[in-house]
Amino acid sequence: MRIIVVGAGVSGLSCAIRLLERGHSVVVAGELRTPNVTSDRSAAAFTPFRASGDPRLAGWTKHAFDTFGDIEKRCGREAGVRTTVMSEYYFEPFEGEPWWFAAVGGGKLLKSVPERYAWGLRVRVPTMDMRRYMPWLERRVTALGGRIESARFTDLASVFERGADLVVNTSGLGARELAPDARVTPIRGQIVCAPNNIGLAECLADSGQAGETTYVFPFDDRIVIGGTYEKGVDVIETNETALERIVERARLLLQETGHPRWSELARTRLATWAGLRPARVLGANDVSIRLELEQVAPNRPVVHDYGHAGIGVTVSWGCAQAVAELVDSLG
Ligand SMILES: Cc1cc2nc3c(=O)[nH]c(=O)nc-3n(C[C@H](O)[C@H](O)[C@H](O)COP(=O)(O)OP(=O)(O)OC[C@H]3O[C@@H](n4cnc5c(N)ncnc54)[C@H](O)[C@@H]3O)c2cc1C
Repeated sequence: MRIIVVGAGVSGLSCAIRLLERGHSVVVAGELRTPNVTSDRSAAAFTPFRASGDPRLAGWTKHAFDTFGDIEKRCGREAGVRTTVMSEYYFEPFEGEPWWFAAVGGGKLLKSVPERYAWGLRVRVPTMDMRRYMPWLERRVTALGGRIESARFTDLASVFERGADLVVNTSGLGARELAPDARVTPIRGQIVCAPNNIGLAECLADSGQAGETTYVFPFDDRIVIGGTYEKGVDVIETNETALERIVERARLLLQETGHPRWSELARTRLATWAGLRPARVLGANDVSIRLELEQVAPNRPVVHDYGHAGIGVTVSWGCAQAVAELVDSLG
């Protein structure tokens, strides 16, 4: 089948790889590509942040976790994928075990957590250094015989006019116009990136409150510190007050969890940035991923895969696998 994948973010590139592996002819066509897509602005650790309720999530998460594990084994350094320990702290009480423990091979509930949190957990999860991961995905696409082109579409009909038998819609926020889907909503996140000169080896995160969330993810040479959760904000800009609060909260989290050099975190900055999480909001659920087949006209099948909000990297391979299975089910 001649397939055009609209979107060159982590979703589009992962789908393209799975489809190429199954023998399809694939062109990835995106208005923007790395290093200028939302995916490049991701934090990007494996965590199903605020996602629940969709029974497909468990399978997608497990498939993605296993795939990242394989990538790390085969070419972790080149792809920027590395497993690390993550501790997460939650404000709201919760009974039982998180649904995604099974997907990541289990985790530990913490016996003691800093006073302001209700509970916490500890897991081993992959982290993706997007500076290396996105170019690696692009190289995989071309090595498998796919093409990546720059193109902007205003509707799905115009994608078929370029000669596609089937279209995969991984346009992130672009799905608002393309699908068209009024539920697609940006959720801005802001990030401070600082040198890792405090010997931080493990990820820390909390569940967030009132438009703020706190996380500290170490990579080889730097620490990615977040963040904000600004629903409906579509301006891709940082603001200094938010950035200062991010660092303050991250230092507090390090201090509360016993890191000896908490006060030195982000005394200098390497970079700051904002990104818009491409959410699809259904009621109280911000992570309502649309992954389904739609016949937009006779013989014009579209497989949608968008609305990943803050978990697009986490579930990327699981969704890509599901997309490839849907395509193959068409025969
Ligand atoms: C600050 C921040 C931190 C995050 N942290 C994490 C994290 O720790 N873990 C995690 O899993 N996720 C995280 N995320 C979320 C994750 O980055 C996104 O869910 C993911 O990148 C979405 O990928 P995508 O490929 O679906 O969309 P995008 O990366 O937005 O790509 C969309 C593509 O579609 C193209 N496109 C759009 N409209 C059109 C059109 N009309 N015509 C042609 N092309 C079009 C774009 O140009 C682009 O190529 C974070 C996001 C942000 C902003």
